[in-house]
Amino acid sequence: MKLDRPGGADHARGAASETIRFATPAPFAWCCPRCRGALAAEGPDATACAACGARYACVGGIPDLRLPGPSWIDHEADRALARRWLAETADLDLEAAVRWIYASRPDWDAERIARRTREVMRGPARLADDVAGWLAPCLGGGPDDPFLDVGCGNGTLLAAAAAAGRPGIGIDVSMAWLVVAARMIAEHGGHPVLACAMAEALPLADGTVGGVVSLDVIEHVGDPAAYLREISRVARAGCRLALATPNRFSLTAEPHVFVWGVGWLPRPLQARYVRWRSGKSYDYNRLLSTREAMRLLRRCTRFDARLVVPPVSEHDIAQFPEGRARLARLYNRLASVRALRPLFLAVGPFFRVVGICRPDAGNGSGQHRTARP
Ligand SMILES: [Zn+2]
Repeated sequence: MKLDRPGGADHARGAASETIRFATPAPFAWCCPRCRGALAAEGPDATACAACGARYACVGGIPDLRLPGPSWIDHEADRALARRWLAETADLDLEAAVRWIYASRPDWDAERIARRTREVMRGPARLADDVAGWLAPCLGGGPDDPFLDVGCGNGTLLAAAAAAGRPGIGIDVSMAWLVVAARMIAEHGGHPVLACAMAEALPLADGTVGGVVSLDVIEHVGDPAAYLREISRVARAGCRLALATPNRFSLTAEPHVFVWGVGWLPRPLQARYVRWRSGKSYDYNRLLSTREAMRLLRRCTRFDARLVVPPVSEHDIAQFPEGRARLARLYNRLASVRALRPLFLAVGPFFRVVGICRPDAGNGSGQHRTARP
C-alpha cells in the first residue's frame, strides 16, 4: 500500500477551492487511528496527532486517516481524484458532479454512467423508508449523539437521515466519494462530519457511539473480524447496530458480478470462477452466509444480534416492470411467513443483522479494547 505517512510533500498543496470544515461535535471528535490521541489541525491541508506525532492530509476539510492495509482502493490515486473533483466540479450541480466521478472511470460507457448517476441521485429518497423503518432505532439520539455510518460511500444514507432530522457522522475508505458525500449531505440539509478511514481502524475513542449503521460493507472489507471488533470497540452499552449484506448462498446471481452460484463454491475457487464466467475481478468481494455472519458477530463483538429477512422495498417495487413487481410482492408475502423464515435466511438474496451492545463488564470483551496513548 502506498499510503504510509499522510501529509507528505506530495499532498502539502490543496486545490484553491477547498474549504475547511473541521468542525466536529465535541464528543465525536475524530481521533488518531494509530493511538487514539487527539487530532489538531495543522493549516488547511493537514492534521496531526498530539500524542504520537502522526500527520494526516486533509482534502476539502475531510481528514485522511487511512492506515496502510489491505484495501480495494489505491489511496494515493483516490486522494488525487478527490482533489481534482473539488477543483473541477465546484460550478456544477450535484447530479453533474456525481456524473463526473463515473465519467472519470476508464471503460465506462455513457449508458452505465447515466444509470449509476441516476441511482446515486435517487439514493436518499430510496432510503427514506429504511430511515423511518428498520434503521430508525439505530440512528442515534439527536444532534449531540449522532449515529456512525461505517462505509458511508457517497453519503446517501447520511443525506436521507439528515433530511429526516437524524444527524450522523460517516467514515469511508474512498476520499473521492467522501467529497461527494459532503455535498450530498449538505444539499439534504445536513452538516457533513466525515473522515476517510479504514473500517478496521476507526478514528473514534472506545465506547462513544450510540448507533452504528453499515450497509453492504462487511462483504468488501479486507478483514471482516477486525471490522466487527472495531464497531464493537467504539459502541457504548445499549448501542444499536444495523448491518445489511448479500447472502453467500443466495439462489439468485451474485449481485456484484451477476454470476450464478459463486457463493456455493469453496472460497479459493470463487475468483477464478467469476473471471472465467464474466471476465471480472472478484477481489474484495467475500459474501458471508447468515451462519458465518452470526458466528463472526458472536466471536468479535459485544452485540446481542439477530437476523432479519429484508422485504423488497415498496420504493424499488414501484420502479420494477409489472412481472418483476408481481414476483417481488409474492417474495414479500412469503418472506413474512414465519415457517418459511429459515429458508429465506438460508438462501434468500440478502439478509440484515440488528443488535444491541451489551455492557462491558463480565462478558470477556476486554480483549477487544485497545491501548490508549
Ligand atoms: Zn497518534
